[in-house]
Amino acid sequence: MKVIASIIENVKCPNCQLIALMDYYYKSDEVFIVCQRCGYNYSRYYKLEEKEDGKLFEEFIDEELEGHGVYVLGKKDGFTTTNLFNCHITDKHIEEFHELYLSEETDQEKSYLVRFERGEFKVISGMLPEDFFTTCENNVNPLILKPIWKKVDI
Ligand SMILES: [Zn+2]
Repeated sequence: MKVIASIIENVKCPNCQLIALMDYYYKSDEVFIVCQRCGYNYSRYYKLEEKEDGKLFEEFIDEELEGHGVYVLGKKDGFTTTNLFNCHITDKHIEEFHELYLSEETDQEKSYLVRFERGEFKVISGMLPEDFFTTCENNVNPLILKPIWKKVDI
């Protein structure tokens, strides 16, 4: 059995500087960073794949996705959906969000669409929660992201 040991901690998002979540698997050196403010995410992990002959192999994935904003949809039943935008938010995205936002099941007070471009947040719909602009001083340890990390000078 493989032991899965990970450290989950709040870190400063490298994209928007607000609080993001990092999940670091120190035994396998795999890491996931997700920012629910700007939509940035970074993943480095081994994905189990099957070859044509049925044999399994581990594919190495190293993926950094830009954050251009998020939407959060709160439902009246308490369920929440978060969508991260890894591309520019278009009018079509906004339209799609509005449809969901105005639906009967949506709790508008808990829903919003926010854009992140050129270092700035701009609310498109709804209202941000009070704790949205929570910052975090804990920078991602560059050693965790070495040697792949491109934005941090070591
Ligand atoms: Zn962010």
